[in-house]
Amino acid sequence: MRSLEKAITERGLVLSEGVLKVDTFLNHQIDPALMSEIGKEFAARFRRELITKVVTIESSGIAPALMTASELGVELIFARKKKSITMTDDVYTADVYSFTKQETNTITISKSLLTSTDRVLLIDDFLANGQAALGLASVIKQSGASIAGFGIVIEKSFQPGRQKLVDAGYRVESLARIETLSHSEVEFVKNEMASQSL
Ligand code: 5GP
Repeated sequence: MRSLEKAITERGLVLSEGVLKVDTFLNHQIDPALMSEIGKEFAARFRRELITKVVTIESSGIAPALMTASELGVELIFARKKKSITMTDDVYTADVYSFTKQETNTITISKSLLTSTDRVLLIDDFLANGQAALGLASVIKQSGASIAGFGIVIEKSFQPGRQKLVDAGYRVESLARIETLSHSEVEFVKNEMASQSL
């Protein structure tokens, strides 16, 4: 997606060890116009899947996931990283190691929010090693719901996350695919066809 690549190039910051900081439009300050475009794009790619729920992990996945859910006319569920005292009912859980925070969180979703008839689209801000995505998939599978695929805003294609998801049989749609992050430069994957679902 051109506008997203432009935002990454012009407003992103390459940190050491292959980490991209996008606090100006996605992870801290949020650009509503760009999020709206992202929501439209994910919705267009998955519309035929008859999605009934969009699911993400708090907090950075919420903005793009909400716009996608709004476009598809369905509700959004965000997995919590810490169990809230208001979550009195039973929960589905999975342990997720955080790439950026270097700690393990137990993510939870209330059992009451998902049923085996749901068709779920999973959205996240980044795909790196695939831990967050696989944790989300595990939580959904516990509910018996089916997974239509993953919508990823920024995929770091030099890390193994995409391959892990594809190997597990999931459709992956990434709006920006980064080939390399080096010397403060972002290089995108050139072959657009490669970003289509495998
Ligand atoms: P994974 O679980 O695939 O290793 O990492 C995905 C999660 O880690 C994302 O939800 C995101 O919050 C965070 N993450 C991974 N790589 C980056 C990055 O380069 N920049 C930022 N800001 N977050 C990242």
